[in-house]
Amino acid sequence: MFDAEKIWNSPQLPTLPAVAVRLLELSRSPETELKQIVDLIKTDPAITARILQATNSSFFSFNTKVNSIERAVTLLGTTVITSLSLSFSLADESISSGPMQDFYLDYWKQSIINAVAGEAIGKRCQPGLECEYFMAGLLVDIGRLAMLKAISREYYPVLVTYESQERQLFKVEHEFLGLDHSLVSGKLIEKWGLPAPMVQGIRLQHFSTQTLFDELTPGKHDMEAAIVLSNAVGDYFNSSSSGLAIQRIREISSHFFGMDGVEVDRFLEEIHERMEAAGNLFDVDMSDIDSPSEIMSQANQQLLELTMRARSETLLASEQKMQFEREKQLLVSQNEVLQQKATTDTLTGAYNRAYFDEAFESTIRDASARSLPVCVIFCDIDKFKLLNDTFGHKFGDDVLRQFAEVFRRSLRAADVFCRYGGEEFVVIVHRPTEKGVEKLTERIRDAIEQEDFMHLNERVPVTASFGTTIMMPGRQDNDCGEEILKQADEALYESKEKGRNQAHHRCLINAQERELIKAVNNLKFSRWLVSNEILDIMAVSRILLQVPADQRSLGQLAVDFKMMDYEQVDQLTMAQKASPRKRIGDMALEMGFLTPENLHLLLCWQCEPPDRLMNSMTANNLFSEKRSRELYSQYRKSIMSTMAIAQ
Ligand code: GH3
Ligand code: MG
Ligand code: MG
Repeated sequence: MFDAEKIWNSPQLPTLPAVAVRLLELSRSPETELKQIVDLIKTDPAITARILQATNSSFFSFNTKVNSIERAVTLLGTTVITSLSLSFSLADESISSGPMQDFYLDYWKQSIINAVAGEAIGKRCQPGLECEYFMAGLLVDIGRLAMLKAISREYYPVLVTYESQERQLFKVEHEFLGLDHSLVSGKLIEKWGLPAPMVQGIRLQHFSTQTLFDELTPGKHDMEAAIVLSNAVGDYFNSSSSGLAIQRIREISSHFFGMDGVEVDRFLEEIHERMEAAGNLFDVDMSDIDSPSEIMSQANQQLLELTMRARSETLLASEQKMQFEREKQLLVSQNEVLQQKATTDTLTGAYNRAYFDEAFESTIRDASARSLPVCVIFCDIDKFKLLNDTFGHKFGDDVLRQFAEVFRRSLRAADVFCRYGGEEFVVIVHRPTEKGVEKLTERIRDAIEQEDFMHLNERVPVTASFGTTIMMPGRQDNDCGEEILKQADEALYESKEKGRNQAHHRCLINAQERELIKAVNNLKFSRWLVSNEILDIMAVSRILLQVPADQRSLGQLAVDFKMMDYEQVDQLTMAQKASPRKRIGDMALEMGFLTPENLHLLLCWQCEPPDRLMNSMTANNLFSEKRSRELYSQYRKSIMSTMAIAQ
């Protein structure tokens, strides 16, 4: 990495002649009189001569010839005189006859253009002070001069690269040196004690327009904006990046100085016309600088290319993004297919045995924690072997498919329907009730019997036999699942025995459990809605499917309801560890932590959170939000009053 200290410590760094330094000091003081300025200039005959020459040049175009420095100072004013002396000192510094001559000339030409551009902007935003703007423009790139002088060896490859490529100088500088001339310019200007806005504008010269718009306020930072703009004008006339430059000119001139396209064109013409006179001031031939109209076509071409490149990059990016999305989507759907394959029976579309085993286990776990009953319906097609033998295996397959269809039509989305094997199917019934299961089974049996299974336009009667079991699992009842399946199978066998096309039911719920279920059900918001004839059973069942259970444990829920404290929950947990087969609710009753009513309420809340049902009623447009809330609070009042629970 290049060491910037080398620049600051170099004896070659541009310096200002004593006269210029003194002039700067004087110009900063409001008490300074013209005579002091005149006397000071007169101490340097070279500068005196050049100021006189300048005053009479086409740059100022006074009508009469000016012969004395006194007259020149009166005509031009202190600021202009100071600026001129400074400029001349710079011009002297900028002359070189060595191998770097062309680079010096290029720098100086650009500085003259910057200066003229600065003057033109100053004329627009702060008339009378345009000479300061001229100076500011002239100094924008002084860092280039400093680097040419102080680190010519390191700077040479930068300039050669810049010349051979269509790139912006500051970018090449960064690549080679890790810094650019705006930093060097800023430091020098600061060191010379020039005004802070000038330093700031010079430092900001290469920042993005967005940063400029964030940092600078139109009307408040005219000098800073003018410096940045003048630098862009310099790049426009004197670099190969005219496209980028014109874009920058348009953005900055519009944002800070309210210039429109036509005004920008006029502004550039004006600068071009003024350039020669400014060049003469410093004996630099500016005639090889093309006119804006000549540059504009090249600039526009470059802009077009830049826009196209940006567009194709965006297109490429969005194409890649789309491709990525497509691949992701493909993976997701492949995954879904795999998942489905792993869990579904291909012939009937029902879940397979593996899926059943998993779903059944988790159903028991859940039901056990919430004191809910578990129910399965077993089903076996009657005399299926005979069907196969009579009509062929292919027909048998068709029957299996259609059979599954009939099932699906009769079940709710939350019921789990599986092919248990061969021509045997099983359903895990969602939130079952004793009566509900009997009705559901009968509905399916009837639907099968009524279904038209066709073979060569002939209706083939198909029936099935059913066996169901409903049971309350104990808390850690590992063999509960086995027991349910065994009992359901036995019930099915009974149906076969007794003549097929019928259902037998095994209810393993004891009287105590039945009471519990009844008590819990009686507390439910859904039950309240139905019994008060606010909603019918169908409507309630439909929205109940969308109401998820409360995931809080019974103990947590009891604490939230202020029925138990955490100490009691701890004791309960300990007691449960000692006898894991006991249900937590029964244990809480035994330990006197809960009354039966409290337990019922907790269980009710756990499996059917009424506030969620309330939200679901609103979401399904059954009632307005206000009405749903009213119903909910009426319901709460009614159960709380019957149970005398402090809430
Ligand atoms: P029951 O009324 O006692 O149940 O008599 P069944 O003939 O239905 O009972 P059994 O268990 O004797 O015969 C079941 C038949 O189901 C035997 C088997 O070939 C047939 N089967 C099993 N899976 C398929 C299948 O995927 N496609 C077809 N077409 N037949 C199958
Ligand atoms: Mg069978
Ligand atoms: Mg069979």
